[in-house]
Amino acid sequence: MNDSCTTQCTGISKEESADKLQTQSGNTNCTRKKIILISPYDLGRQPFALAEPAAIFGQAGYQVKCLDLSQQKLTDGDLASASVIYIYLSMLTATRIASEAMPRIKKMAPSAKIAVFGWYAPVNEKFLRELGVDAVFGGESEEDMLAYAGSITESGEMEQGEHPASRETVVNLSRIDFMVPDRQGLPALDKYAHLVMPDESRRIMGFTETTRGCKHLCRHCPVVPVYQGRFYAVPADIVLEDIRQQVALGAQHISFGDPDFLNGPRHAKRIIEAMHEEFPALTYDAVIKIEHLIKLPDYLPFLRDTGCILVTTAVESVDDKILEHLDKGHSAAEFEQVVGLMSEHNIALAPTFIPFTPWTTLSNYIELLDKIAELKLIMSVNPVQLSLRLLIPSGSRILELPKEETCITDFNPASLGYTWIHRETEVDALQENIRHWTEKAESRNLSRLEIFNGIRQIALKAASREAPDVTADQCGDTVPVHSESWYCCAEPTEQQLASF
Ligand code: SF4
Repeated sequence: MNDSCTTQCTGISKEESADKLQTQSGNTNCTRKKIILISPYDLGRQPFALAEPAAIFGQAGYQVKCLDLSQQKLTDGDLASASVIYIYLSMLTATRIASEAMPRIKKMAPSAKIAVFGWYAPVNEKFLRELGVDAVFGGESEEDMLAYAGSITESGEMEQGEHPASRETVVNLSRIDFMVPDRQGLPALDKYAHLVMPDESRRIMGFTETTRGCKHLCRHCPVVPVYQGRFYAVPADIVLEDIRQQVALGAQHISFGDPDFLNGPRHAKRIIEAMHEEFPALTYDAVIKIEHLIKLPDYLPFLRDTGCILVTTAVESVDDKILEHLDKGHSAAEFEQVVGLMSEHNIALAPTFIPFTPWTTLSNYIELLDKIAELKLIMSVNPVQLSLRLLIPSGSRILELPKEETCITDFNPASLGYTWIHRETEVDALQENIRHWTEKAESRNLSRLEIFNGIRQIALKAASREAPDVTADQCGDTVPVHSESWYCCAEPTEQQLASF
């Protein structure tokens, strides 16, 4: 990392910053200790959540090695001399991959302490400790992670008694000092997911975050059990320096990975204004809630004029009762309103869905497909979205609903989620058939329209109905897409797990 950047962005000198971090770590003799930061999987993006703590540990004087298992393999050489290994669990898929990798990690680094952090760490504490995890962190965890590393000797022993994270999850929900992420130890940006434009040209994507956590409490969301309706801004100068360094590394497009980009609209605006002024050709995309797109209509021309070409929005359903169960904060009519607003402002929309829930019926599933066709969104919806099944992880607010409504049977440690079985066996069978068809069709590189029509025919047949296929002139415009699918609130697909 560029030293002058650190000085500029933290507002203190490098020496002062290093002293402060060494004091926070509780150990001023940490230069020989090696920290490994592992990301099992982060939706094909270069993980901000490794690069940012890498900068903090590096500045505190540790040797730091980042390993992104979506790109790199575990090796004895890297792990053998580690004092602490931190594994980032951002999503269920990452947690499942980490659990598979754990025996190898422990064998390769028998004396290292193993710690986990990220949304899925606190809610899976019991399972993770049974696997041999020594410490669990949640929320704004970098400073706690640093203090934990400071309490471990080079040979992996505790220096002064037991650290609290060894006994129970340490969740910090107060503001921390961020640093400009250190991305040097990660694979090059062009190895990660690209943005694929409608003309099939590709743009190298950078990835950063302007906030962490979320101020909303959607019932199915994995952010909620940890952040409990809070979010934290990453200082604008840190975000801008991170964008600057990614542009220097080749980024032509920035994907903002905040759970919701407009949780702090003025903060987002300040960053975008400065980014656009410095890099007028840079495009970007963000995840924005329907409620925010409706309540902040003045932002849409601003987003468009500053290079926003794609907004991902979690629609989940077009059935108002299901939206109420999920406590999504929008209605089906508001989704349609947003489709109109985005088209008016010439910003592509990528709606995401959780079509299979305990409240899905054959007819409301077909209504969802019809609505997507009616709104000319077939090219905007990643087909895998139409096969996803509601995930109910530990800590989910879905557990607040009566058991008879959610159809939950028990907790399945193998899938790290609660098993639910639909009252109507044909709905579960439909989901299985659609999942199977979508995976097969994608492996054959069928178009979104062909996959959509295949899905629709399967659903119509299940309901003993017939209807003609949707034609190419009804499917809407091709939109920019990430070359790796975006979804986090659903169970991982077989294909996704098999690739690891
Ligand atoms: S689903 Fe999105 S808006 Fe809702 S709580 Fe989660 S991150 Fe926030």
